[in-house]
Amino acid sequence: MRIDALTARSIPDTRGRPTIEVTLQGSTLKATASVPSGKSTGSHEAFELRDEDGGVQTAVAHANGEIAQTIVGRQFDTLDELDTLLIELDGTPNKSRLGANAILAVSIAAQRLAAQLEGIPLWRAIATRAGTTPSAPRLYVNVMNGGVHADFRLPFQEYILVVEGATSEALPIAREVFAKLGEKLGNAPMGDEGGYAPTFATLEEPFDLLAPLVAEHSHTSIAIDAAASEFYKDGVYTLLSKAYSPDELTTVYRELTERFPIHSIEDPFSEDAARDFTRLTAAIGNPSTSLGAGKVLIVGDDLTVTNPSRIASAANTKEINAVLIKPNQIGSVKEAIEAVRATYAAGFVAIASHRSGETDDTFIADFAYGIGAHGIKAGGLGQKERLEKYERLLEIEQEAR
Ligand code: PEP
Ligand code: MG
Repeated sequence: MRIDALTARSIPDTRGRPTIEVTLQGSTLKATASVPSGKSTGSHEAFELRDEDGGVQTAVAHANGEIAQTIVGRQFDTLDELDTLLIELDGTPNKSRLGANAILAVSIAAQRLAAQLEGIPLWRAIATRAGTTPSAPRLYVNVMNGGVHADFRLPFQEYILVVEGATSEALPIAREVFAKLGEKLGNAPMGDEGGYAPTFATLEEPFDLLAPLVAEHSHTSIAIDAAASEFYKDGVYTLLSKAYSPDELTTVYRELTERFPIHSIEDPFSEDAARDFTRLTAAIGNPSTSLGAGKVLIVGDDLTVTNPSRIASAANTKEINAVLIKPNQIGSVKEAIEAVRATYAAGFVAIASHRSGETDDTFIADFAYGIGAHGIKAGGLGQKERLEKYERLLEIEQEAR
């Protein structure tokens, strides 16, 4: 593949914060990609380059300048060759010089352009590159937001409806549950990810509300992203103004999973609390990934940050049994695929994920389908940029027929 032109610019994300968009031209075709941005970011993530004022003009300048000078007019035999060149050009361990945001935007645009030049759907190109078997991911639809995504109106960051099956069957169920929940909640505001952001006095109430709605359908369950690094300080987890030790928090999770149909718990402890993860996974983690009483997936996000070596280390000490894959945590499609390989090599499942600050780029839908992910976190149904991911999954279902 030859890249004939590169242009980059700053566009607003769903929070109105700037992010980078890159367009590549190859032959007569053009492919555009933009990258999302997290709020509850793990400290081991690749470096998102931001200006002092929060803008991305330096990242945009790197893409239009140094990156364009290096890749435009050049022939690449493989996409891995292109990504490796970008990683080497940056030269830092965490992409802090050119910015993981600048590098990933180019990397995704190149993947999209290559699929277009080949005349195949993006998900198929990703599956071929990754050596994976494509399949429809479970929808992890964010229905209630808390934590840093909603000013801690709820203690955990995400309350998620999980629906299995083909997207065309799963999405109508998600829409129905989302609408019914909205009626029950009245005028609840929306959180960052397009789910409702109500408040409750106890830890159980959000589950008490959601569980009967979930029980109306088969193949549905509940997931949470505790994002526990955000309510952890000096050995103590604080939920609804009450302090919990790691052991007490383990009991909270165990009791919740015994009472409610909880399929997975993401980031139950802070990002460096590996031993607490291991204990929880041994206590309630279900290695077979099928639902069983009190047995769940324990998902690493801030813990593993889509980093193949952190995933391998978490596997060694049995910290988790599922991994969240966010391409912008690592900063290139090549390395995101390596993270998927490390996940599968450990016998874990992968859940592909958007970020809390999104754009209308639907790459994550193709990525989830292409790698045969267990699930996709694409947000709530109350925000256009999230709905576009679900719409893309519907399109993919047609393309795959
Ligand atoms: C998450 O924590 O899983 C998430 C999507 O939020 P953020 O993008 O803020 O990290
Ligand atoms: Mg998370």
